[in-house]
Amino acid sequence: MRFSKLRLTGFKSFVDPTDLIIADGLTGVVGPNGCGKSNLLEALRWVMGENRPKAMRGGGMEDVIFAGAATRPARNFAEVSLLMDNSERLAPSGFNDSDQLEIIRRITRDVGSAYKTNGKDVRARDVQMLFADASTGAHSPALVRQGQISELINAKPKARRRILEEAAGISGLYQRRHEAELK
Ligand code: ATP
Ligand code: MG
Repeated sequence: MRFSKLRLTGFKSFVDPTDLIIADGLTGVVGPNGCGKSNLLEALRWVMGENRPKAMRGGGMEDVIFAGAATRPARNFAEVSLLMDNSERLAPSGFNDSDQLEIIRRITRDVGSAYKTNGKDVRARDVQMLFADASTGAHSPALVRQGQISELINAKPKARRRILEEAAGISGLYQRRHEAELK
């Protein structure tokens, strides 16, 4: 499956609906500091089910909602839509009945997040599993956060191992081993 379009509405600095077309090949995003480049990557992570506010550089998940600016009032909800090309029918079963697959996540103040795939209400878990099966998702090591490379280079050996283990997806094993040892 290929990502073909990301649409942000009221998400962080993208107050008006904004489309990012992801064409074949390489897509580059350039712009001055603070223009929202990292916010785009966070939107991609978020629509795939990211649930850690820290990964969104916020204190709480509602911090992704446009907080207002000198000339614009704050919004009540944020929405991200991710359009995927499924013409080769590679989506996991249950999501595989059309050429396009659209995932929408919306967060409303004091209500929380809701997800839809092709217009149908689904659970966060369904979206997370959809991407887990497609070997991608919010925690994919393919999404490299700004500063992560220098963190890796500057980290002490123990911390570096932790980062690599997280990328390899094995950090949960230690938690389970610890729990097993306590029993
Ligand atoms: P750099 O080149 O420095 O990495 P960048 O292009 O990656 O910059 P981002 O970090 O994506 O920029 O965007 C930061 C901007 O987003 C800041 O101006 C910040 O005020 C704005 N921003 C973040 N969250 C919100 C929010 N909830 N509401 C409004 N604006 C927000
Ligand atoms: Mg950035």
